[in-house]
Amino acid sequence: MEFKPANNIQDLQYFGEFGGVNPSISDSSTYTFLSAKTMFDTFEGNADGCYLYSRHSSPSNLYLGEALAAMEGTETANVSASGMGAITSTLLQICGAGDHIVSSRTIYGGTYAFLKNFTPKINIETSFVDITKLDIVEKAINKNTKVIYCESVSNPLLEVSDIKSLAALAKKYGLKLVIDNTFSPLSISPITLGADVVIHSLTKFINGSSDTVGGVICSSQEFIDSLRNVNDGACMLLGATMDSFRASSILKNMRTLHIRMKQHSKNAAFLAEKFEADGLKTVYPGLTSHPSHEVYKMMMNKEYGFGGMLTIDVGSLTKANALMELMQHENLGYLAVSLGFYKTLFSAPGTSTSSEIPEKEQKEMGLTDGLIRFSIGLDNDIKRTYMLIKECMIKTGVLK
Ligand code: PLP
Repeated sequence: MEFKPANNIQDLQYFGEFGGVNPSISDSSTYTFLSAKTMFDTFEGNADGCYLYSRHSSPSNLYLGEALAAMEGTETANVSASGMGAITSTLLQICGAGDHIVSSRTIYGGTYAFLKNFTPKINIETSFVDITKLDIVEKAINKNTKVIYCESVSNPLLEVSDIKSLAALAKKYGLKLVIDNTFSPLSISPITLGADVVIHSLTKFINGSSDTVGGVICSSQEFIDSLRNVNDGACMLLGATMDSFRASSILKNMRTLHIRMKQHSKNAAFLAEKFEADGLKTVYPGLTSHPSHEVYKMMMNKEYGFGGMLTIDVGSLTKANALMELMQHENLGYLAVSLGFYKTLFSAPGTSTSSEIPEKEQKEMGLTDGLIRFSIGLDNDIKRTYMLIKECMIKTGVLK
């Protein structure tokens, strides 16, 4: 049966403490126990339904986790203070000294920096590969490999991972396939394609308001329990805990995600087609010119489209900066990093979100100076937006 992530979210029913339609916010960092024995049992992990301390879990965080697990089709989920909190906890839970990770080379700059500069300090090594070349991915696996890591749609180059084939590879070698699905919530459901762990930066489309950072790890009960373990759980011990007030507000925003994603995708598809027709080098998974268009089509939950992210290459950083400044001046969006906002956001990844990646490696992976990454907004009149962007392109010499 077709997986329906938005139905799964819709079907959750909440009764607040006083019968409210939203769950009450748990405004406590610590919880009482009626008996000392129950407190002991809870620390041992043997008192289901009891809360001990909000770094471990809290009702508000569990509600949000439940909704995200429903969306991704996992047994459960653990929310965290940021996307990086989710990524670092997951990888440090699975890997220890001497272990090895095979990672896509085009990933968010922060994740790249973590794997390139931080984890080697604790003797975890990473091979960065072209994730679209399965033979190269397989060759990079060695006897110490524990994880294949990638983004379903990569930041910023919008490379698409063939999750089904990667899952088969992970299974063959007994590895965990960890997917960052931040760019394609609802559109791609990695668990149904064989992934073991799905991560999101909630900061982006899922919250959609650019008012907070947040993250989530969706996976099996066993893995999430291990992350929360008081003795050796990375979420519990590294402490990237989400605050209950935030969990409550993200849960409310998440209920409109299905409507927003359709609009983001519709607008991005419209602009991508226009930009390409205008002769701009345009990358969007929904364009037939995208090298992984067919792979995306095979994986996607069709009604949500190909997502809200696109890139164009305008030839030079100077031109990119001039265009972005003018577009902001004309109120067509913000010159800002991040994504998933109601207004369009644009930035030049080479000098911002991917600046952690050395210039030489940026070149190798095709991250050029003139690349502009767009997170397309929810504009009601995208034709008008296009006309106005085109005027900016002409004024800045990006288009003739
Ligand atoms: N994953 C992707 C694909 C991202 O784009 C980002 C942030 O830009 C992150 C993870 C990190 O998330 P956060 O900023 O919430 O820590």
